[in-house]
Amino acid sequence: AKRVGGACYQVYDRSMHTQVVAQLQLETDLRKAIERQEFTVYYQPIFSLTNYQIVGFEALVRWQHPQRGLMNPGEFINLAEETGLILQIDWLVLHQACQQMKLWQEELVIPESFTVSVNFSGKQFAQANLVEQITRVLQITDLNPSFLRLEITEGAIIENPEAAIAVINQLRNLGIKIYIDDFGTGYSSLSYLHRFPIDTLKVDRSFVTRIDNDINSLEISKAIVILAHNLGMEAVAEGIETLQQLTKLRELKCEYGQGYLFSAPVNQSEATMLIISQMQN
Ligand code: C2E
Ligand code: CA
Ligand code: CA
Ligand code: CA
Repeated sequence: AKRVGGACYQVYDRSMHTQVVAQLQLETDLRKAIERQEFTVYYQPIFSLTNYQIVGFEALVRWQHPQRGLMNPGEFINLAEETGLILQIDWLVLHQACQQMKLWQEELVIPESFTVSVNFSGKQFAQANLVEQITRVLQITDLNPSFLRLEITEGAIIENPEAAIAVINQLRNLGIKIYIDDFGTGYSSLSYLHRFPIDTLKVDRSFVTRIDNDINSLEISKAIVILAHNLGMEAVAEGIETLQQLTKLRELKCEYGQGYLFSAPVNQSEATMLIISQMQN
């Protein structure tokens, strides 16, 4: 029994060891990735569900890892949060997205209402000099703030609602609007949602995925869209993959949507082509 136990322990130990080494390696790589500028931004178009025009893009980070290839945030965002590296990544993405938006504006003369939305982690949103730093990025890239949207989750505002209200108001005064991401999946902020000067709620993909075959998901989606409208906000549905899902969301009068049905996130040159082909219509 002792020998078996010993063997088991060794196997367990070795796999634990491998896991820890892999994690440490990824962390080392992540730190280097920032210096080596391995992060890039993909853009997923957001469509009007009434006329199917692109109204903007959501900026989504990708990591071009030298060995592992193009990595999605799911593979590194938790580690980035734990290590605090998310702060630098969020700034990089904001900077690249603003720069890209400025290029589109200059080269393609996009409509005034066209926007780019950038995801901000809760950590980022809690930074003391947030508004100053955003202002600086907008100055450096020479982008009009009205082209920018920030996507934050409920969690980011609920930890310190008073501070969040102050920050959101400052951002709004600059012309930057706020989306609440993944709405309905986090803490319930229903009781004081009306106190937040927020413009848009994003219906989480988990509800959209099941909207046409699960009555609860349909009812939750409906409740979110109605709540948004009653509070003077708009709604964006994420993760639309089928026509059936689209039909349901249009019935609910959800204004905007994004998802594989329309387009997956694409690189900047493919995004440019999407804008150009829309202009030719
Ligand atoms: P999210 O903000 O909810 O972004 C939507 C995610 O759903 C994206 O995954 C997008 O590629 C994916 N998606 C879009 N349409 C569909 C669809 O029709 N079907 C399916 N199955 N998926 C769809 P992605 O790019 O892997 O990003 C995952 C998450 O990582 C994001 O979720 C966001 O929370 C986080 N993230 C991405 N970029 C950043 C960033 O720059 N900063 C921060 N803090 N977080 C980021
Ligand atoms: Ca988002
Ligand atoms: Ca989301
Ligand atoms: Ca989501």
